Amino acid sequence: MKIIVASYQCESNSFASYHPKKSDFEYFKGDDIFKKLVVKEIFESYGHTVIPSIYAVALPSGTVERDINEYYTEQIFDTVRENSDADAVYIFFHGSMEVEQIGSGELYVLKEIRKILKKQDALIAISLDAHANITNELCDYADIISGFKTVPHTDQAECQKRAAEALCYCLENSVKPYSYMQRVPFLLKNDTLQTAYEPLKSLISLTEEQEKKADILCANLFLGHCWIDAPNTSASTVVTALDYEKAKTLAKELALKLWNTRRDYKFLIEAEESEECVRRALEGNEKRIFITDSGDNTTAGAEGDRTEILNLFLKASPKKRVCVAGITDFHTVNTCWDMPDGEEIWLDKFGALGKIKSHGEILGWTKEIIGKSLTVRFGNVDAVFTELRSAFIEKGNFDAAKVALSDYDIVVVKLGYLFTELKPFADRELFALSEGASCVELSKLGLKRIIRPMFPLDEFEFNP
Ligand SMILES: [Zn+2]
Repeated sequence: MKIIVASYQCESNSFASYHPKKSDFEYFKGDDIFKKLVVKEIFESYGHTVIPSIYAVALPSGTVERDINEYYTEQIFDTVRENSDADAVYIFFHGSMEVEQIGSGELYVLKEIRKILKKQDALIAISLDAHANITNELCDYADIISGFKTVPHTDQAECQKRAAEALCYCLENSVKPYSYMQRVPFLLKNDTLQTAYEPLKSLISLTEEQEKKADILCANLFLGHCWIDAPNTSASTVVTALDYEKAKTLAKELALKLWNTRRDYKFLIEAEESEECVRRALEGNEKRIFITDSGDNTTAGAEGDRTEILNLFLKASPKKRVCVAGITDFHTVNTCWDMPDGEEIWLDKFGALGKIKSHGEILGWTKEIIGKSLTVRFGNVDAVFTELRSAFIEKGNFDAAKVALSDYDIVVVKLGYLFTELKPFADRELFALSEGASCVELSKLGLKRIIRPMFPLDEFEFNP
């Protein structure tokens, strides 16, 4: 049988002003998409013919503009038009893509594909990030839904394989499964939800137990994505089963269990206002202390251009050596680029005299060089400015920017939790509850379009 395969992903942030451009998407087409997707071997092992479309995946950003959306989705639709007799479609989405004037990017793609497919019983299987915002309508268009079971995410491959195996099972046995979604009306601080710890650890195990049953294909918990101001923003559970009632019953059971844990999520590290984090970092005795500027987290779509924490350190004139890494500032990088290392420069916006420390490069999401960085030294404080949004998630980002992590006592990065690759360099981690497009305080975000009541903004009873 014929299966079309594609991937189109960009986690959106309604509060971020930067909209992704074509150059922000890592892009492959044809067979090259299988450099990134792992489903081809599975489909072929069942004797199916695989039709590759495109793979287009971008770093989380502001909402996707219509022309960019059209550019990529039309390529997917072209593949479907050329193969409208396909028996199935598999797409690896994020699940929280918001397209301007359209809404859910994923729902838009699925609706269009259904219009093109000639076979009424053609199956659609999708994989989604654990932070997907799901709607009942999405389940009307996707027969099989498989979500990540890890936060931070490490099971992208397993999630694709689960969907692919479920799809092959249904094609093999000529059955059409049901996906049932139960909304769980909570939006929690994303960074407090981690699957290696309770209560999520046990809940995830429960979904795995359920999936061992022959008639349950996928049992998913979706934790929601609080930085999209849209009606579909919420946590949810989704079960794909061979029997509609089974899918519904289990989705509701899991939803009640997930709802009952809503007060149990806490930060696992020190989480304080920025001023307090700076004070603690300056007074701390640990060899190297990291502060994450969570409100301006580029991996959650924020711009990365806020300078509150840099200003706090400049004001403190610290004895400790400090590095603030990855401040998006096209203007500073490009107006000062031709100045040699060591030259003094007055930066008006900080009211401070600095010295060019080093010229470097910034790395994209897939570690390729995407632009320039310029590091300016203000006394003991180094600020790494980047001409484009970037995320300093590992030592390689510092190396490319020509700053040595080992030189610093305090390092500030624009992340939520530190990525695993940075943890070995951190003797202590402080989570700054800073403001910005990825602010973790829901009440400060100004969500207007979400469906209320929503915990913790509202206190109410919920019975799925
Ligand atoms: Zn995610």
